[in-house]
Amino acid sequence: MPVTAYDLTGRTAFVTGAASGIGRACAVLLAEAGATVHCADLDTHGLDGTAALIKDAGGTARTHPLDVTDRARLGEAVATCARLDVMAAVAGIMHSSPVLETRDEDLDRVLEVNFKGVLYACQAAARSMLASKTPGSIITMASGAVDTGGAGLLCYGAAKAAVVQLTKTLATEMGPHGIRVNAVAPGWIRTPMTERHDVAAQARTEAFMSRMSPLGRVGDPEDIAHAVLHLASDASAFTTGQILRPNGGVAMPW
Ligand code: NAP
Repeated sequence: MPVTAYDLTGRTAFVTGAASGIGRACAVLLAEAGATVHCADLDTHGLDGTAALIKDAGGTARTHPLDVTDRARLGEAVATCARLDVMAAVAGIMHSSPVLETRDEDLDRVLEVNFKGVLYACQAAARSMLASKTPGSIITMASGAVDTGGAGLLCYGAAKAAVVQLTKTLATEMGPHGIRVNAVAPGWIRTPMTERHDVAAQARTEAFMSRMSPLGRVGDPEDIAHAVLHLASDASAFTTGQILRPNGGVAMPW
């Protein structure tokens, strides 16, 4: 039984990137907290897996195979929610290239998915919440890369910095309507995105990131899902325009 402020019974959440990693963990935890969860992703097979996990946990899921860069399709999917309480815009891709080798098409693709895909989800959610006068919560997925920078992170970091700007701007515009908008900026989390390196390289990176953290470990998707649940729930009723940083203490900005 969830603690009352974290109880999402009777609420509806929409999660992009819900087929894998952080998005899947968010979808499952929001469902465990009582929400009906709409799961969207490119990966149909992964979506079915997430829906099965939610069903096994006694929750309710709907699936929407879609590309978040398709604004119209995403809008249609969000419109199937009679009333939307929570949007978690999690879908994203990784790209790494040195600045001097970065091609226009790399930058365009990463901005398209990681920034515009989040923008379209935020727009669809805000329109739905405004139309139904729902005091909802919109959560975007930034990255610790906005705090630390790092070699190769031009495209990815630029898109995530734009997500932070979107979050602050939308929070300011939606606050008078009772709609909250916050970002989560995870540190290094073990997911299929970060497991795509070869095994030796992954072990070296995880050892390095663990040493950088006062907690001595990298994160799990559930670490981020709990941050998202906090922002989705009434427990964060006075929090908007903020960046929550579940990063193991790797970066500690003011
Ligand atoms: P993941 O396991 O790769 O999950 C991302 C999901 O998004 C995948 O199912 C992917 O489908 C889907 N996706 C990609 N492009 C899409 C599109 N255009 N339309 C719909 N779905 C799309 O990655 P993750 O690690 O969970 O990352 C989730 C989010 O957290 C991302 O925004 C990422 O930037 C952010 N983040 C991750 C970390 C980390 O250390 N893992 C740290 C900071 C921030 P496909 O597999 O079919 O592409």
